[in-house]
Amino acid sequence: MKKIDFTKFYLFDGAMGTRLLELGFSFRPRMEELSITHPEVIESIHKEYIEAHADFITTATFGVNGYKYQDSEYTVSEIVQAAIANAKKHVKQSYVVLDVGPIGKLMEPYGDMTEEECYAYFKEIIDAGKESVDAILFETFMDIEEIKIGIRVAKENSSLPIFATMTFNQNERTMMGVSIEEMVKEFETLGVDALGVNCSWGPKELIPIVEKLCLISKTPVIVQPNAGMPCTDEHGSIYYLVDAKEFTDIAQRYLDIGVSIIGGCCGTDADTIRQCSMLKKLKEENHGKN
Ligand SMILES: [Zn+2]
Repeated sequence: MKKIDFTKFYLFDGAMGTRLLELGFSFRPRMEELSITHPEVIESIHKEYIEAHADFITTATFGVNGYKYQDSEYTVSEIVQAAIANAKKHVKQSYVVLDVGPIGKLMEPYGDMTEEECYAYFKEIIDAGKESVDAILFETFMDIEEIKIGIRVAKENSSLPIFATMTFNQNERTMMGVSIEEMVKEFETLGVDALGVNCSWGPKELIPIVEKLCLISKTPVIVQPNAGMPCTDEHGSIYYLVDAKEFTDIAQRYLDIGVSIIGGCCGTDADTIRQCSMLKKLKEENHGKN
């Protein structure tokens, strides 16, 4: 585990899922099995981001958990460990961060997932990865209760730094109605190391949310937008309209208003990350990396 200095500016990597779609793979039935069945593909995508000077390489484990993978021929632990090995393959100085997404099942009272069940799903993922990564990233959450359980699992079972981000609609609430203020308050109470927003919208649409976050958060802010809103072509393929240049221009604004960590979600690629790595604050802080 390499120590992370949270007073610095950092760059995360870009998308994994949409890169795999571009290469002809599918989310269904279980994309994360590719870490075992096609390790060379996952390694090569990580390599693109390492070469683009990302400080953080995110494991391809977003959708892996005991609920979604109950029919997999591999255990959660096997997939998580294979994914970490793939992420580490070409890493020299970058940090490797264990990616944890929502379980995919609603918690009580909206659904039937109990707190204990949710805790056990997160614990299985975190136990599988905690010895071999530098940090844990919780991302794309909409239910504050669910992500709080995930953070608690990480705190109670490891000493790893924690990044926690939720996904907001343009009304500045998550799909489950969580406000920015509520998220910041809950995450700061739990003592995460960085908090913010990912996915949701393109970089421009996220500006009001990012401004509010920077105003109220005492914790370093992390933002990982999509490359705009997803569009669908006549064959049903999804594409994104915001190019690396436009993304980077807005990323500069983020850094100016107080964001500490930027990266890309759906639709972003190595080009986006490479251009962001040239931003002054990121360059000065991270010269000589990779
Ligand atoms: Zn996304």
